Amino acid sequence: MTRKIIMAGNWKMYKTVDEATELVEQLKEALADVTGREILVCPPFTALSAVAQALEGSNIQLGAQNLYPAEEGAYTGEISPRMLVDAGCRYVILGHSERRQYFGEIDPFINHKLQVALAHGLRPILCVGETLEQRGEGRQKTVVSMQVYRGLQGIGAEAMKDVAIAYEPIWAIGTGQTATPGQANEMHWAIRNNVEGLFGSEVAQETSIMYGGSVKPDNVDELMAQPDVDGVLVGGASLSAESFLRIVKFQS
Ligand code: PEP
Repeated sequence: MTRKIIMAGNWKMYKTVDEATELVEQLKEALADVTGREILVCPPFTALSAVAQALEGSNIQLGAQNLYPAEEGAYTGEISPRMLVDAGCRYVILGHSERRQYFGEIDPFINHKLQVALAHGLRPILCVGETLEQRGEGRQKTVVSMQVYRGLQGIGAEAMKDVAIAYEPIWAIGTGQTATPGQANEMHWAIRNNVEGLFGSEVAQETSIMYGGSVKPDNVDELMAQPDVDGVLVGGASLSAESFLRIVKFQS
């Protein structure tokens, strides 16, 4: 089994160009010897080019937080996949719960983005996750499987090698409340089953499923020790070099 471990920072709407460059300068030196995992930072669009330049020759990859699924055109305020590739991106986060919640993104639109991202050689990280209310009603697995099925519609098994999934329970994002390692693993196992249903067991075993939701230096080791947790997507704690470094250098 060759599952990639992905340790990713989602900077959301934080960091000016100077702040972003300063952060990656600290990260790249301290992570130069770290192997066996993909390290990824996802700055805001305005800092992508500067961060790409700062990361040249390092073992840190660049990702974007979103894209618009068209080559180019009259889409005021949007960013195309071509522009992301041009800026040096290798990854793109899609379907983040904040995009679903504040910008009305729904599964078919996210699926379209995913297909366009793949067509441009970008590796999508498809985010899925349930609300507290849905979990309270015991519907977390149904909700998340629907997001997985709809998000991955029309994707070929071969293309799946470039797709990662991030399980991010909405009630754990930015709240300080983390899913227990057991809760996370149970959901990751269910998601892997969904992927198996769609693409077969070989693809399912090779798909990286990351966890996101208040990941911190003091809970990353336990989360990463879970057999179906193949990385993390980190918001708040990726904004400081000290905490993100400790997360990337997890011990389990
Ligand atoms: C996220 O933005 O994907 C996230 C998980 O945020 P936080 O780590 O701050 O909960």
